[in-house]
Amino acid sequence: MRYLHLFDPWKFPLCTCPEKYSIDPYTGCEHRCIYCYITSYIRDPWRVRPKKDFLKYFERDLKNAERKLPISMSNSSDPYPRMEKELCITRGAISLMKRYNFPLLLLTKSDMVIRDMDLLENMQAVVAVTITTLDDALAKKLEPFAPSPSKRLRAIELLVARGIKTVVRFDPIIPTINDSEENIREVVDTLASIGIEQIISSTYKAKRDNFTRVIGVFKKNAEKLREIYYKNGEIVRGIRYAPRELRMRILKKVRDEASKHGIPFSVCREGLSLNTAPTCDASHLLWRNI
Ligand code: SF4
Repeated sequence: MRYLHLFDPWKFPLCTCPEKYSIDPYTGCEHRCIYCYITSYIRDPWRVRPKKDFLKYFERDLKNAERKLPISMSNSSDPYPRMEKELCITRGAISLMKRYNFPLLLLTKSDMVIRDMDLLENMQAVVAVTITTLDDALAKKLEPFAPSPSKRLRAIELLVARGIKTVVRFDPIIPTINDSEENIREVVDTLASIGIEQIISSTYKAKRDNFTRVIGVFKKNAEKLREIYYKNGEIVRGIRYAPRELRMRILKKVRDEASKHGIPFSVCREGLSLNTAPTCDASHLLWRNI
């Protein structure tokens, strides 16, 4: 059993991440985001189960690791499902990374992350919280079982107040759904007022199963989305992207709004030269002292 793996085992051509490891203490995710990609490669994706003897094998992996690369947690789940409250596996994993001096990039949509601020504030860590809209009703359609954007914003405020390096993943942005200038401006202005360190953004990528869910919820947008993704879009390794000009227009808007506030910006897996931040995943912040 080995839980620590190099990130991006499939070597996706548009991934610009620096080398890092990846771990997921849990398999599956209960947030059930309609745009989620894990449903195409994880069996029973909405049922969360802890990985067997995770902390025991993870500690062995850390002891045997050849390099002290940053560890990204979690890329195919959320490290804070409800059962984490009792099980504390993610908390145990953070403690181990701290004990063995591995820098941590923590990705979540859950405000439960504030429980672990006591660990995060004293280690090399960057927390990335996802926000796709500040509209709780729209978020309920996009991410039906995830904590509301208001709860996530409160968590971000607390993380920043504790001096924990905090960035926001403003993604995915889905054309016709959360790509309006008003939504983009409102999200970026609000994040700027809190004092986050970077915005990472990307557009929605369609796969057959997530596209079916998206047009199932946003029926009125279905025709337009089909045109964008299936008629005019481009395909990268079997994944459907919106046309390049449209992605450029949306993400440039986010970049320009971020720049107005002096917030560094990066895109994720887009192949567009829009970054103002030194790294796409904010990992450079791990090496910067506060
Ligand atoms: S939080 Fe991530 S892994 Fe979980 S359902 Fe949403 S997109 Fe999928």
